Amino acid sequence: MDPGQRAGAAHPQALPGGGPGRADRRRCRHVRDQPSDGDRPLSPFEPRRPGCTTPTAGLYVHLPFCASRCAYCTFAVTTAREHIAAYLEALRVEIGLIDLDPGTILDTVYLGGGTPSLVPPDDLQRLIDAIAQAFPLYEEAEVTAEANPEDVTDGLVQAWLQAGVNRISMGVQSFNEDELRALDRRHDRRTALEAAQRLLDLPGVQLNLDLMLGIPGQDMRSLRESLRVLLDLSPAHVSVYILEMDKPHRLQALKRRYPERFAGEEETTAMYLEVHETLGAHGYEHYEVSNFARPGARARHNLRYWSCEPVHALGMAAHGADGNRRWANLDNLDAYIGAVSERTRPLAWATTLSPRECLAERLLMGLRLREGVSSELVNSGRVSFPEFSLRLNEFLELGLASEHSGRVWFSPRGWLVSNELFVTLV
Ligand code: SF4
Repeated sequence: MDPGQRAGAAHPQALPGGGPGRADRRRCRHVRDQPSDGDRPLSPFEPRRPGCTTPTAGLYVHLPFCASRCAYCTFAVTTAREHIAAYLEALRVEIGLIDLDPGTILDTVYLGGGTPSLVPPDDLQRLIDAIAQAFPLYEEAEVTAEANPEDVTDGLVQAWLQAGVNRISMGVQSFNEDELRALDRRHDRRTALEAAQRLLDLPGVQLNLDLMLGIPGQDMRSLRESLRVLLDLSPAHVSVYILEMDKPHRLQALKRRYPERFAGEEETTAMYLEVHETLGAHGYEHYEVSNFARPGARARHNLRYWSCEPVHALGMAAHGADGNRRWANLDNLDAYIGAVSERTRPLAWATTLSPRECLAERLLMGLRLREGVSSELVNSGRVSFPEFSLRLNEFLELGLASEHSGRVWFSPRGWLVSNELFVTLV
């Protein structure tokens, strides 16, 4: 099946005799992947269906358990799997503490981590059921779960389908054995291939594969080989991240000792542009700094962040935002469980954005997207942030950004250096 068709497939629970929580689901769906409209789409979302004004939100759920910590990991995770049961109980309590605005319907749920595929499938199903019972959830909601290749079994995927998962994001990172070892990943190339094939065979499930650039020992040749394997699989969506070396993780020490094993800035730029060219030539739209999709397969949950649409947070270290406010939960497992057990919101911090901060947020997020932002928004930014205005002029002169038909957007090369512009907004 063409992977692009998977995105439009029905939610498994929309079938007759669907699973738990179905009775609570509404039928109106007004947030969809945008169709391409010539060269420069105007918005990542379709306009809302006439007459359908129901506000929507997304929900991010953090499942922080991992079998071991990868060499490059800076996420809020733990290997203390003996706490899974207590943590899931805390999640069920926190669901009751989340204040969704009245009338709001959940349109996306994202189970991230950590490693959600480590959570026993029955427990994951109970968690999704609890979410569906607590909040109105669209019948065609996008429900994503992250998986590691070594966990993908027939039993797991069948349980996830039954629970309503319709999008799976798998952390492959590379199809090169040496590179996987350098990252301390627990899977090898063969495991990744078998897992991807198993997921591609599922009806109605959209697959994302993560790849990484800047892995120790990676060069253009090994990257091209990983891309060749990935294109043979042809998932609906691909995320490509550049290894961040400015955050504390084990590979920093390796780089200090063996700098020659790491690609320099020029080589990393060349690899990023290679990914852009290769995936573009095979029908993938490079729609966000790190994301590529077949037509109709953009990640709806992540589009919420980039479009400053509301996303609520559930679980340790989970972050929420709605365009006007941002907040984050406690990132310590004991502190999180302790707060929730006392029936208090487990917030680490919460902030209301000033109008100036809202403007900066909309520019920062919107310029990550291929369609960029409106010239009107940019002009407001030019008035409020004079340094931003000067740097943007340089980007436009150098061809790193373009302005046309009332929109401003970055080129892929511009995205690579966009932090130089974004620091002027912070
Ligand atoms: S699987 Fe992901 S979250 Fe877990 S340790 Fe590895 S990089 Fe971190």
